Amino acid sequence: MVQKADKIWFDGKLVPWDEAQVHVLTHTLHYGVGVFEGIRCYACTDGGSAVFRLQEHVERLFLSAKINEMTIPFTQDQISAAIIETLKVNRLSEGYIRPLTFIGAGVMGVYPGDNPIQTIIATWPWGAYLGAEALEKGIRVKTSSFTRHHVNVMMTKAKTCGNYVNSVLAKREALADGYNEALMLDAEGYVSEATGENIFIVRKGVIKTSPLGSILSGITRESVMILAEDLGYTVVEDRFTRDELYCADEAFFTGTAAEITPIREVDRRVIGQGSRGPVTAALQDAYFKVLRGENPKYGQWLARYSF
Ligand SMILES: *Cc1c(COP(=O)(O)O)cnc(C)c1O
Repeated sequence: MVQKADKIWFDGKLVPWDEAQVHVLTHTLHYGVGVFEGIRCYACTDGGSAVFRLQEHVERLFLSAKINEMTIPFTQDQISAAIIETLKVNRLSEGYIRPLTFIGAGVMGVYPGDNPIQTIIATWPWGAYLGAEALEKGIRVKTSSFTRHHVNVMMTKAKTCGNYVNSVLAKREALADGYNEALMLDAEGYVSEATGENIFIVRKGVIKTSPLGSILSGITRESVMILAEDLGYTVVEDRFTRDELYCADEAFFTGTAAEITPIREVDRRVIGQGSRGPVTAALQDAYFKVLRGENPKYGQWLARYSF
């Protein structure tokens, strides 16, 4: 169960957690046209807290809405301010932030007419998405029987609610089969990403990640690419196949929820030494230093707050 916070921001007002409710004829509930974000905030080493790349997440929320022809009746600055306000009233120094924009109740049928476009911001404490042990030891992954969306079936650059039916099916299958996460191939059979994480492989010191095709353009992915280059690694965006992944020295997933999670096994093949590799560890270290406000070079990635 998600741990309750005091308030949820709902269309401009902070309402008690239990009162943040919608009608059963909410359009998005029936047809899946809604957009969301997943954002994290962290307690910083020098006191206070910071939301990681708040502006980029809010911008992507608006782009997801644009892709789906939804007009959010707030500005990006208003949503950013509302996120900070919600964190403060909930006195959350570290946790997860879930903004969601959806089409409210009104007309029914596929055409949403001018049903209201509604937005909520929920926050709650959330530890490591794939388990604290996963960050250290790595996870076991299985290639999914489900294909990642084709770019002309579901537009893959938006975090659209309905897109996650595919993710839920793949995740359930992977867990039922005894794995921690599903690896999705694109419609042509190349490695795309996981159910909510981007993927990187490392071979002979070179870091490779799937290009922006069928994948969601992850903010963690972009951050890791920048940090990797800082550390002197070469990073390439290029398609690769599942067997190239099997032969990698290291592999890891990135995402706001999953942070940087090493992959120790794929389809029964052990990746590298079967544990977190040195490049993955170095990137985790650099990433967590940034999140905790320990790297002044990336101070602009942090929206600081305290209460
Ligand atoms: C959100 C998401 C990611 C990770 O994106 P971040 O911006 O790093 O959180 C990757 N893949 C999918 C499908 C996602 O929904």
